[in-house]
Amino acid sequence: MVWRLITYTELYTPVPPYKSTYAIGVVEDESGRRAVVRIDRRYFGRLRTGMEGEVVEEWTVFGTLKKFVPREEVRVTRVALVTGGARGIGSAIALELARAGFSIAVADLAYDQDAEKTLEAVKSLGVEATFVAMDVSSAESVERGVSEVLSKFGRIDVLVNNAGITRDAYLQRMRPEDWDAVVRVNLTGAFHCSKAVSQHMVRAGGGVIVNISSIVGLVGNIGQANYAATKSGLVGFTYTLAKELAPYGIRVVAIAPGFVKTRMALAVPRSILRDYLKRSPVSRLVEPEEVARLVRHVVENEAINGIVIPIDLGLGISSPKA
Ligand code: NAP
Repeated sequence: MVWRLITYTELYTPVPPYKSTYAIGVVEDESGRRAVVRIDRRYFGRLRTGMEGEVVEEWTVFGTLKKFVPREEVRVTRVALVTGGARGIGSAIALELARAGFSIAVADLAYDQDAEKTLEAVKSLGVEATFVAMDVSSAESVERGVSEVLSKFGRIDVLVNNAGITRDAYLQRMRPEDWDAVVRVNLTGAFHCSKAVSQHMVRAGGGVIVNISSIVGLVGNIGQANYAATKSGLVGFTYTLAKELAPYGIRVVAIAPGFVKTRMALAVPRSILRDYLKRSPVSRLVEPEEVARLVRHVVENEAINGIVIPIDLGLGISSPKA
């Protein structure tokens, strides 16, 4: 039976008992019979009066609900924004999400050879890709970059807060500017990006935010007080955003890699790396592609939310505090 949407309203305030946002509509069939229906938030932004669809009964823990499912569901290409996406882990994530069919926005400080290489590799997979110059530590730069992505692609479904830096030193030698720089990029950067992108995700009916933390944020690391503090900070940030944004269909997850084979890890003094490998049950570094595949899994598996997932070759079992 064909039903036509007569009127609807999108509810942006989570309504008990569902802890969720959705639309309420009135539909009418060919004989003029009317029904009040619920409409999933994934149709937000695409609903219009007069559109046709089916009314289905769905079992939920709160009882059976009448739901309207629009017939002309437009096929959309989802979009992922990866900060620090020009090289290293960010580049591998951009490529893996491209393989999953996402259009990709690579955000990084400047368009250099690394950015060009990543963009070409993404495009060669047959998806759209764009570069946005963005300094995540600046709210203004992030807002400009996010608007640029929205005007190019019209949506952002996945945000990966990956941009990160190190300024390693023992506490007594750590300069306040080294502390501040790392906090501004690694932690405040994730705040600026999540704030700008989640506004849009709420209107669009959902999304996923993945924060790239580090095993160092869970167990600490000599010479990295600033870095470890930001990566621990991302853990609390993740838990809190997951609670705040769940009603809007936005999932927030942190991934905590051990040392990954990128320029960042290779800049760590050899003695520290050797010591780390001695303590690791598996004596190698994590590959950027392995982190990227985990990000893709988190994005695709809708049951994963509000959790920190280590990917560290089993470092956690080597000692209580590795
Ligand atoms: P990487 O090779 O140094 O790449 C970092 C990227 O972030 C670079 O493209 C860099 O741009 C960009 N970036 C730096 N500051 C930025 C800013 N203010 N705004 C926008 N982009 C900025 O590092 P990676 O190893 O791939 O690390 C990626 C993430 O994983 C980081 O958050 C890191 O903390 C985390 N992580 C890394 C490891 C590891 O062992 N490698 C382990 C655990 C977690 P430029 O090239 O212009 O500097």
